Amino acid sequence: MRIRFWGTRGSLAKPGPSTIRYGGNTSCVEVRADDGTLIILDCGTGAHDLGRSLVASGERPIRGHLLITHTHWDHIQGFPFFAPLFIQGNEWDVHAPQGLGQRLEDTLAGQMEYAYFPVTLGELGATIRYHELSESIFDLGTVQVTARYLNHPGIALGFRLEAGGIAVVYATDHEPHSRHQPEAADPAQLLPVHREDQRHVEFLAGADLVIHDAQYTLEEYPSKLSWGHSPAELAVDFALAAGVKRLALFHHDPLRDDEAIDRLVERCRQRTVAGGLDIFAAAEGQTIELAERQAVAPRAARQTESSITKGVGAASATILLVDDDPDIVRLLTMTLRPEGFRLLSASDGNAALEIARAERPDLLLLDWNMPGRNGLEVCRTLRSESDPDLRDVPVVLLTAHVEAEDTAAGFAAGVTDYVTKPFKPAHIRSRVQVWLRRRRPEAEGT
Ligand SMILES: [Zn+2]
Ligand SMILES: [Zn+2]
Repeated sequence: MRIRFWGTRGSLAKPGPSTIRYGGNTSCVEVRADDGTLIILDCGTGAHDLGRSLVASGERPIRGHLLITHTHWDHIQGFPFFAPLFIQGNEWDVHAPQGLGQRLEDTLAGQMEYAYFPVTLGELGATIRYHELSESIFDLGTVQVTARYLNHPGIALGFRLEAGGIAVVYATDHEPHSRHQPEAADPAQLLPVHREDQRHVEFLAGADLVIHDAQYTLEEYPSKLSWGHSPAELAVDFALAAGVKRLALFHHDPLRDDEAIDRLVERCRQRTVAGGLDIFAAAEGQTIELAERQAVAPRAARQTESSITKGVGAASATILLVDDDPDIVRLLTMTLRPEGFRLLSASDGNAALEIARAERPDLLLLDWNMPGRNGLEVCRTLRSESDPDLRDVPVVLLTAHVEAEDTAAGFAAGVTDYVTKPFKPAHIRSRVQVWLRRRRPEAEGT
């Protein structure tokens, strides 16, 4: 498997003398499996040169897959400049997470409307098929792809690609779920306490290469909470806990020049006390060869569109908002009402239980500290109910507690996840979609 970085920058393209070594183009990574399967991870401005190189290679027709983590600008701005899409006979499958109420095709067409761009999506010459994804596992040629939701203000997926015994994980635009930020990696306590962070470690587990969001430093991170990006040091901790072989720091901050990235790499290397993890900063133009260990027979047929898991529209869901602070209930209501949810609210734990039993909501957003029964007690009670709808309903605690012991206590009480106060509306919107989509996998299309 060959991996080539065409764009490594996050948020905004940043060409110039200060970014010449690590590159100024935004997210775009080319992956070519030994069987020839071509997978492009994200379509930021780096896709321009990649497209030119594919056309210049003489390969005809050019067939490939674009795996888009999410449709923020820095991940799709290269799409209208990706030359293989303009050539008749080429075939491209575009895979991206199902968005918030808008079809993928329409989202991509939006940035190509006449006000922004002279060629519309419909005028592209290649055959383009669109696939909307939720968490799923599917095959592209000999490559098995696992898609997992990341923690980002906007529904974003990470991708784990496996072929011939090699695993590469692309996890960018992600921040840790826990607000607990250790100054140094603790070799005795590598596995994070937060269940969602544990899931992330499982997603990275044993990979030969992890390409991970590393936009911030630990020092910068407190002022960037909920922006959906990781401090590089915590990306290192996750890679260590997951037993990863190589870690590529990725999605470089537009303000970080080449020398600053060198210093960041050095700091990350010092964090790996025991060694065993090779850390580098992804650089535009860099190629990595990973030898596929077993010969894999090409699969007979490419997977058809209909066999790729599609997410469900969760708009019809009922959500119970519980907080004794009316401002929080108001903020949540303003954030979630435009999504079309049916919203119920309560201001104490006893009322919350009563409403939950009567209305059987699809999700509870529940304050920890309240008069009467607190959030943990409400959650414990729900988990002991005989009605499976209540026993298994996702319960998300709203809290300002961030210490590891508190986090562990919540999970022990059956909490599904946390939202740490203060929170941002965009973050709540995307997390609610994730909790609801995980809740009803049986409702997903075939
Ligand atoms: Zn980004
Ligand atoms: Zn983003």
